[in-house]
Amino acid sequence: MNSFPEDTDPNWRVQGSCIGADTDDFFPEGQGKAVDAQIARAKAICADCPVAQTCVEFALRTNQPFGIFGGTTPSERRTIRKERKIVAA
Ligand code: SF4
Repeated sequence: MNSFPEDTDPNWRVQGSCIGADTDDFFPEGQGKAVDAQIARAKAICADCPVAQTCVEFALRTNQPFGIFGGTTPSERRTIRKERKIVAA
């Protein structure tokens, strides 16, 4: 049976640097400069997060369709998933 980081430490979310941050920045809607700024703010917070790797792996494993997780956008996670499938093939 596989073990996932979030399984071994179920409290990882409360260790995130985004606790107390503006959730709109992590779940921006639409596009344009304002959204780009929100994404940049979220990514800057993720960059210093102690659980960033766990967070992005959670988002990849659960196929989160929205939001910034571990400093990645949904589009970036799609790219990671594609790359991993290619490597695994
Ligand atoms: S990586 Fe980003 S979204 Fe994930 S817990 Fe840390 S700050 Fe929050």
